[in-house]
Parts: sequence; structure tokens; C-alpha cells
Amino acid sequence: MADVILSVLAHPDDAEFLCAGTLTRLARERSWGVHIASMTPGDCGSAELPPDEIARVRRAEGAAAAAVIGAAYHCVEERDLRIAYGEGPLERVVRLLRQVRPAVVLTHSPADYMLDHEQTSTIVRAACFAAAVPNFLCERIAERPLEHVPHLYYCDAIEGKDLFGQPVEPAFCVDVSAVIETKAEMLGRHASQREWLRKQHGMDQYVAAMRQWGEERGRPRGAGYAEGFRQHLGHSYPQGNLLGELLGVV
Ligand SMILES: [Zn+2]
Repeated sequence: MADVILSVLAHPDDAEFLCAGTLTRLARERSWGVHIASMTPGDCGSAELPPDEIARVRRAEGAAAAAVIGAAYHCVEERDLRIAYGEGPLERVVRLLRQVRPAVVLTHSPADYMLDHEQTSTIVRAACFAAAVPNFLCERIAERPLEHVPHLYYCDAIEGKDLFGQPVEPAFCVDVSAVIETKAEMLGRHASQREWLRKQHGMDQYVAAMRQWGEERGRPRGAGYAEGFRQHLGHSYPQGNLLGELLGVV
């Protein structure tokens, strides 16, 4: 049965680092609909262009990257370094959830390297719950509540560590070896970020870092490349590992 997956991450290129392989496999192997959302349009992601201009560039890059696998791109229109749990962002993510109506949602690790990621994780966790609550802001949210809370998964923390440098271990990994070139192609569509880093480092550090991280997750598990996840298993969230059942775990 084909269904829908939605990733909600902080910045326009986070999905291409953390979960694009899993999204690609669901689209190709299971014919799932894929939606990729970023909380911000990446408005601080340039040393040369002002916020509005780089935001315009990066929304287009996010859409182009999603289009590689036939996915839809959404921007929640928060702003870089100012993502904060509160009623406004919660309402906007609930609206997105009720429009997209996903069976599976991916977001950041609750412990990660920066607050934009951690706050996004908190907002999405709360939104998954609130989207199924009929009375939540019912005076102004017209979209129909979800029938139930979606399966929620947290991606790897960046570099697999928290703010103290302690490892954040995944509960399971998805083998993305067969789709790593597609993942690289998607990441490559974020040309403004790739060029910025290329100028700084004199090499294509952007895509290399993604591959290196995928190898690090994959190698100990006998896979070429892998993406790590932890499932939200608190009360009232679905308990079965739907993602693992659909794609297998390593
Ligand atoms: Zn980010």
C-alpha cells in the first residue's frame, strides 16, 4: 500500500545529508509519495547575498533537489538561528502535517549540534501529536485532523554526536548504498552551499562529507552507506517500526 513520508528538518539541505537515501528508497521501492520540508529557507547561508536573496536561491535549490526523486518541497518560513518552539511554528507545522497527511515523519535528533536542529525536533514531535487532536487551534486551523499520530523518527545528529561530543547512537540504520549517487545528486543541487564550501576549503567538501558520514554508519553494519534513525516510542505514538519493515534494517 503506497503511502506518504514527510521529512521536516531545519535547513534546506539537511534532508540531503541525513535522510535522502531513505526517502529515495521509499519512493522507488515502495512507490511512496515523498515530501521534504525545511523550517527555514536558509536565509543566513551566504557571506555575500542578503537574507532575502539567498532565501530565494535556496528555496529553488530545495525544490530542485526534491524534484530529483519526484518529491515536493515545502518551506515553513521560519528564519535561520531563530527557530524556537512556540505557537506560531507549531501551528504552521500542524497545518503542513494535515495537508500532507504522512504515515511516517522524519525530523532531527533531539540532541544535535545546534539549536535550530533541536528546536525543530521539539516542534515536529509536538506537531505530530497535535495534528491528531481535533480541538488544537480549531478556531483557526481548517484542515481536517489526522486520523492518528504518524510514525515519528529522529535522524542522526550531525556527525553522530551531541553538544558535549558524546555519541548519539542510532536504534537502527537503513542501507542506502544502492541510492547513494542519487543522494549525492540531490545534495549537489544545493549549489550555493556547495560553492561556498568549495571556496573555503578548496575542495568539494560538501558532498564528500555526506559520503563519509554514510560510510561511517554503513561500514560497521556491513553496508556501503547507511542512514541512522531512532523512533519516538513514547505513549500514544505508533510503536511498530514501519520504516524498518518497509526497507529492512542493518
Ligand atoms: Zn541544518
